[in-house]
Amino acid sequence: MNNENTDTVTDKGLFELNCPACHYETSLPSDADLGSVRGNTKRYSGSEFMLWKCPQCQAITSIDPVDFHDIYSDYPLNKRKLDIFAQGTYGNLLRRLRHAGLQKTDSILDYGCGNGIFVEYLKQRGYLNVVGYDPYVPEFSSLPPAQSLFDVVVNNDTLEHCDDIHGMLLENLNLLKTGGLLYLGTADSEPVNMSNLEPEIMRLHQPFHRVILTEKGLHKLVTEYNLTIEHSYRRSYHDTLRPFSNYRFLDELNKAVGHDLDRAMDPSEVNRVFLRSPRLWFFALFGYLFPSAFEPAVIVRKQKPKSPPSSLSASSDDS
Ligand SMILES: [Zn+2]
Repeated sequence: MNNENTDTVTDKGLFELNCPACHYETSLPSDADLGSVRGNTKRYSGSEFMLWKCPQCQAITSIDPVDFHDIYSDYPLNKRKLDIFAQGTYGNLLRRLRHAGLQKTDSILDYGCGNGIFVEYLKQRGYLNVVGYDPYVPEFSSLPPAQSLFDVVVNNDTLEHCDDIHGMLLENLNLLKTGGLLYLGTADSEPVNMSNLEPEIMRLHQPFHRVILTEKGLHKLVTEYNLTIEHSYRRSYHDTLRPFSNYRFLDELNKAVGHDLDRAMDPSEVNRVFLRSPRLWFFALFGYLFPSAFEPAVIVRKQKPKSPPSSLSASSDDS
């Protein structure tokens, strides 16, 4: 899922930075493109992480290399439950997939499935031919073999968690049938002021978010791979009109508990801050109307490879 981070500190103490999205390189980044922010989990709330915004494509990269198995060993979001709030947001995600043509008989891979609650949700809704993959969750750590091609691959809230986004996209496409659908939904790097990153602490989500694209960068990425964008979304799939199921509410709730995701997921903490906060109630009900960040997503279709000019070419055999 991840290659080694290509950003290194040279023996002269300078950064050699390579944008994982557009491959822009520099060893002399502008101060205006650098910033640091603390983590938003209990484990990392006391640690600062350096970030770099690519001046060419505006992607934000986390510079410090990480040991992925270590950082995900106690990842709070892998303790999420399929509660009424998750059902609200996943209902929105499922609507997007159905609108693009998802059928109950389709084979589906949830790539980067965490603890598998979207897999569980799909099964509850009658989509039984679904599997999950997440290299850092033992139950889901086996990548389906290359010959098992899927009708639909869902890569949701996952692309930003890897250093090598091109490698991950290729891996997704290699698991997708020709004509199949890929959902790619990710965090958004604009507008982020690199000199004041504290308000963006939730979307930056250090050290877990490695590369954060712009919406334009996400579109450019997929078109580089001969993919047709069938549907494009700017709002987060978390954003619904259903009370408590919107991104702004999640952001405000996290702020109210000091941007500590472990606390934000503890029901007794949530109850405690709620009792005192009319502001939280307001955003629980009306947060959809006041988004604090976006999460661009695209649904793309895998095209047939271009036919070779020779009349001897074999027909496609991967469906
Ligand atoms: Zn770039």
